[in-house]
Parts: sequence; C-alpha cells; structure tokens
Amino acid sequence: MNNLSTLMQPKKATVAANKVSGVTLGIFTSPVNGDLIELVALFSGNAKTGNMIQLSVLPVDGDISETSEGRNAICGSCPLKKACYAHDQGLFAMMKAYKAGKYQPMPMDEFLAIAQYRFVRFGRFGDLSLLPYEVVKQIADVAKGFTGYTNQWRSKYFDSRFTSIFMLSTVGMKDSEEAAKRFPDARQFRVINEKAEYVNDTAKGFITCPSTNGFNCDECLLCDGQAQKVAGLSIEIRAHGIAYKTKRINKMLQKDVIATFKA
Ligand code: SF4
Repeated sequence: MNNLSTLMQPKKATVAANKVSGVTLGIFTSPVNGDLIELVALFSGNAKTGNMIQLSVLPVDGDISETSEGRNAICGSCPLKKACYAHDQGLFAMMKAYKAGKYQPMPMDEFLAIAQYRFVRFGRFGDLSLLPYEVVKQIADVAKGFTGYTNQWRSKYFDSRFTSIFMLSTVGMKDSEEAAKRFPDARQFRVINEKAEYVNDTAKGFITCPSTNGFNCDECLLCDGQAQKVAGLSIEIRAHGIAYKTKRINKMLQKDVIATFKA
C-alpha cells in the first residue's frame, strides 16, 4: 500500500505511462565508436525482475548482431557478447518496435516523475555506463529502487563514478580478483560455472543471488551498486539462461579466458 505522502502527490504521469509499453529518453554518443545510441524505457519487467521499468541502450542506426558496430556502440568491451543472456526473444521484439518507431520520445522530467514510484532495472540490454554519468545518476537518485550492472570496468572508456551505482559484472575467479584489484570498494555480480560451489558466506564477501531462493529482483534489490544495507557484499550466481549460451559461458569459465581479456 502507498504511504500517505505518496498518495498526496500527483499520479498523472504514472497513469499516462501505463498506456504505453515503452518510450525513448534521449540520444547520446557512444564513447566507444562515436555512434548514436538511444536510451529506451520499457514499463514492464519479466519473470526474474518482477515489476520494474527496464532501461536499455540501443543503436540508433546499426543492428545488434554480435560483431556489428551497433553492438560495439552499446555493449563496448563486454566479453560476453557471444553468450549474452539478455540477447533473447524479448530483445528482438523490443528492437522491432524501436525500429518501427513505436516508442515515442518522453521528456526526462516526465520520466523522472514516473520513476520515483517505480523500481528501475538499468540494463535490459546494452551497458548503461556508456551513457553520460549524470543521465544515469539522476534516474538512480529519484527511483524508488534500482538494479544495475556494468561490464565496462575493464575498458578505458569506463567512468569509475559508475561503481557507486552499478554492480561490476565479473566472470569467474580471476576476473573477479582483477575487478577487486582495480575497484576495491565496488560490489560485484559474479557469474560462476554452473557446477561450481557457491561461497554464500557474508564473512567471505559473497552471497548467492536470492533468485535461487525464488525471489524476484523487485523483492530483493541487492544489485544496487550503492546499497548500504548489505555493507559491500557481492553477489554470486551460476551461469544460467538459454542452454547454448550457458554452455559458452561455462567454457569461458573453464579456461578462465576472461582474465586474459584486454579491453
Ligand atoms: S541479487 Fe537480487 S537484485 Fe540481484 S539479480 Fe539476484 S535477485 Fe535480482
């Protein structure tokens, strides 16, 4: 139930947003290759996230195939381009709607008025740290709660201020150690082999993603890089998702190829 102060504020923008499935929030330049990228908000979540607004960055002109410049612009140096769990059917539907012009522009002020009542997921697709920090920060500051991840921490384009908003996505132990060395105060969302043992020990700094206990992200919200309530704890999850992609991630983890990845 909404508290009294919430009920005493205008709900107009929320009602308007419920009538559309998604909107665009602005065009920016990718620091990776200079291509134009657009911030897109979908107003509904999925089975794992629960009821969250989902934000993506999409290439304005290019496509999103693994080796395209469009993908380079929005995913930068992410080492999981060929094993991306977010590259699924829902993404193709979103891209189709986006390219068909079905998402109309919404002024950022109007979006922020909605976001204050909603949980936000930064990163349905694309890496939101490729947007200007100030754009992301203003949304994080007003949202009722949020989750966010970045793979760009390995990149020379990375704005380290994002460590206070996003979890560092890491793949396996060596990659995780490298992230801890570069950004000792940042929290991580670490993917491990599907057969590996979970640490799940607060004293050791990693707990298992509560989705394995049946919670949705909107009930958890631990993947808020700045979450003070968990005192710097990081999250671990086994490789999951579409079978052939899980297989690719497991293969990378077995070889520990991420540790040798050069941004
Ligand atoms: S730790 Fe919580 S917020 Fe993060 S992915 Fe797992 S369920 Fe979602």
